[in-house]
Amino acid sequence: MFPDPEALRRDLLTLAEMESPSSDPVAVARVLDTVEGWACDLGAEVQLLSGGTRRFAFGVDGTRSPLLILAHADTVWPHGTLADMPLRVEGERLYGPGVYDMKAGLVGAIHALRALAGQWPAGGIVLLVTPDEEIGSPSSRAHIEHEAGAARAALVPEPPVGAADTAHAHALKTGRKGVIDAALTLTGQAAHAGNEPERGASAIAAAAGLIPQIEALARPELGTTVLVTQIAGGTASNVVPAGCRLGLDVRVAQAGEDERVMRELAALTPADGRVQAEWALTLNRPPFPRSPETLALFARAQAAAQDLGFKLSETAVGGGSDGNFTAPLCPTLDGLGAPGDGAHAAHEHIRLDLWPERVALLAELLRRV
Ligand SMILES: [Zn+2]
Repeated sequence: MFPDPEALRRDLLTLAEMESPSSDPVAVARVLDTVEGWACDLGAEVQLLSGGTRRFAFGVDGTRSPLLILAHADTVWPHGTLADMPLRVEGERLYGPGVYDMKAGLVGAIHALRALAGQWPAGGIVLLVTPDEEIGSPSSRAHIEHEAGAARAALVPEPPVGAADTAHAHALKTGRKGVIDAALTLTGQAAHAGNEPERGASAIAAAAGLIPQIEALARPELGTTVLVTQIAGGTASNVVPAGCRLGLDVRVAQAGEDERVMRELAALTPADGRVQAEWALTLNRPPFPRSPETLALFARAQAAAQDLGFKLSETAVGGGSDGNFTAPLCPTLDGLGAPGDGAHAAHEHIRLDLWPERVALLAELLRRV
């Protein structure tokens, strides 16, 4: 019932040895080619979509909406990372760039499909693998939304949440915050800071005045966070600074909050009328609210885990994923990848001992949902 741990490990090493930063489509395509080979062995119908996303259909016959498995082949790690962060096994942990987020999830999806041995559920399964999740999915978002609109549920093998010693050990994700990309450029007037400071209009002073107003737009009780996380400005210590730029981290948990925050940020103006404010605001990913449909899907996963002999918990998280795009369109369960820790960090690893049961769980969900 559980997949072969040796085969899982071998396939993960195959993908992890190919570095695949989002910025290099050719490198990402090499990972996708390997996945395509595995998918074809399982009888997939393959479609190459614009931007490099690949769609693998298993038994999709139009009798019912298919199930969607959504994965990405890119990582945040640049070329050359393997030289400093080589793939290595220590005890039950396999370390390396991109193994946790989310090459193990991709391998797990293939092995879960293999476990069905060609007995596809009614309506079939679509595995969609994208090349650009880590940069906000610019080329794949439309494909993701198209598939989610036609699917009866989306299963996302991104990493589960939390290191093994936390309360939510390896929890599934039943909600994710939406992310707004926000930056403010302030343009004032330069002047000699010693001779005629009154002729200058300080962009830094304007920024300092605005920061408390910006952060006051947070609504912790609604899950909305607004933080100024970057600041840059000025040219020399004896010049009234004409330029200043702020970078923000803005996240929203509830629908509607994205629009409120963007509207209220855009309305903020510097106290010094000579300083111009220009906002760059885009909704990177909409919120993935913790809906009753998703919780019902989680309940089925919990029952399946119990039958397989392990306990499963769920939680909502701050980080976004492509699950944010599917959640408004179909029930979505995220975090179905390999347990581990250290996404986007030097200690990135998966737990080899806890991985096979998660792959078995994904296979059970494909049979039962
Ligand atoms: Zn990911």
